[in-house]
Amino acid sequence: MIDTETAIRAQQHYIAGDFRDGAGGRTFTTLNPTSNEVIAEVAAGDTADVDAAVAAARRAFDEGLWPRMSAKERAVVLRRIANLIREHAQEFIALECLDIGMPIAQMKGLAARAAENFDYFAGVIEELAGKAWQTGSFLNYSVFKPVGVAGLIMPWNAPLMLSTWRIAPCLAAGNTIVLKPAEWSPLTATRLAELMAEAELPEGVFNVIHGFGEAAGAPLSAHPGVNLICFTGETTTGSIIMAAGSPTLKRTSFELGGKSPVVVFDDAGADFERLVDAVVFQIFSMNGQRCTAGSRLLVQEGLYERLVEAVAARARNIRVGDPFDAQTELGPLIRPEHHERVLGYIAGAREAGARILAGGDRPAHLPDGNYLAATVIADVSEDMKVFQEEIFGPVLVAMPFTDEGEAVRLANATKYGLAAYVWTNDLTRAHRVAQSIDTGLCWVNSQNVRDLRTPFGGVKGSGIGREGGEYSFEFYCDQETIHVALGTPHVPRLGLGGG
Ligand code: NAD
Repeated sequence: MIDTETAIRAQQHYIAGDFRDGAGGRTFTTLNPTSNEVIAEVAAGDTADVDAAVAAARRAFDEGLWPRMSAKERAVVLRRIANLIREHAQEFIALECLDIGMPIAQMKGLAARAAENFDYFAGVIEELAGKAWQTGSFLNYSVFKPVGVAGLIMPWNAPLMLSTWRIAPCLAAGNTIVLKPAEWSPLTATRLAELMAEAELPEGVFNVIHGFGEAAGAPLSAHPGVNLICFTGETTTGSIIMAAGSPTLKRTSFELGGKSPVVVFDDAGADFERLVDAVVFQIFSMNGQRCTAGSRLLVQEGLYERLVEAVAARARNIRVGDPFDAQTELGPLIRPEHHERVLGYIAGAREAGARILAGGDRPAHLPDGNYLAATVIADVSEDMKVFQEEIFGPVLVAMPFTDEGEAVRLANATKYGLAAYVWTNDLTRAHRVAQSIDTGLCWVNSQNVRDLRTPFGGVKGSGIGREGGEYSFEFYCDQETIHVALGTPHVPRLGLGGG
């Protein structure tokens, strides 16, 4: 199933339509999370590589066809890219499974969703229109224009889906791109670059620089030739990137970390099995490495013990193992250092007196790789690190609440505000609580289901800006307002000069 030719060959930068090694000739390795064996050598980008890629993107924007094509013409290329992704769906699934260890059973929709990003934004750009107003003898109208060169700095947890969610509207708007994939997950970005060329995207419109954050991400986020920075990653990295972009006033769109609450009221227990399914899915899918993971379970007292026990029982039976096995429900964490970090959080909670109801350690049958059993920690308190900080692994923390006021207070008691999940059969309370939680996204009586037309993004430490549907183009486009005199309207005299 894996096209090993693609998987194991060296990962080079893609600049101005060419694959090439880094200017400094340095490389690093990407590891298979099931064994920590090397998958491939990857070019380690530095300032010289970033300069070359930005120069290529700049040329393609300032002199090239792409920003000057009609929206319809760009849409044709975007749909070609979508079709190519669909044609190579199995290969993308295999590459991503190999690189990040996400269970293959959860990746069936991966390529389809990546392709949909291109198809969908092709449709939006074709329909996108400015507005017109007539004021007396003036016609005022606005037009959408591409902004320039965009630097896209991406995380490792769902590389193809997350990067295409940014690449597709960015290209649709007529911008050009330098993509910096995460150093832990380079494979699908390289393959995507090959398909961009096959789709006849003009040279220099899409460029990829591999490498580490400080060596490759930092020069990209500070580069004077870059107009836009789209960053998905940790909140602390977002602050650094914002500071780097501030001298040249870069426009930023940040999709950052989360510690999303699942708030369950007593009356939600009527459909108990569905509720348990949703809680389990929302924390343990994608190996728990999901920005919108429902990682804090807040349950009203009357249902607390029953729900927490049921979720823990389910967690104990989750099949942890090889992500290529179709039966696997939970794969390995991405890297040994991340595995260590997550274990550190669990140890801290144990020491602080929380109850570990399920998991908490490496499953005995998986001595190698970065495996961790699905973990449920009950009776945490608000001041514990596991309640406050994003763990980004298969670790659910649970805590009871008494009434609606306490539920909302606890839901809002972290620095994050990306997603929330509210479970109740009381219609008015559902709306009231959903609106009282500080969050960019709230799902009522459901797990995370997305509609690409809706605005996506976080509040507080979880992000800046909204993307999705037409909202994406408020970021990826400039809007120019043009005022046209119809005929010869009166121009007031300043009256200077006395003559
Ligand atoms: P990270 O912040 O460590 O790294 C993200 C990217 O930033 C990588 O490409 C990295 O090389 C680069 N980077 C690191 N330091 C940099 C610097 N100084 N200058 C420029 N670039 C730098 O995040 P991660 O560990 O890759 O990803 C996990 C995080 O991403 C989690 O916090 C998760 O919640 C978040 N995330 C958010 C969303 C969302 O939509 N809100 C989606 C997915 C992931």
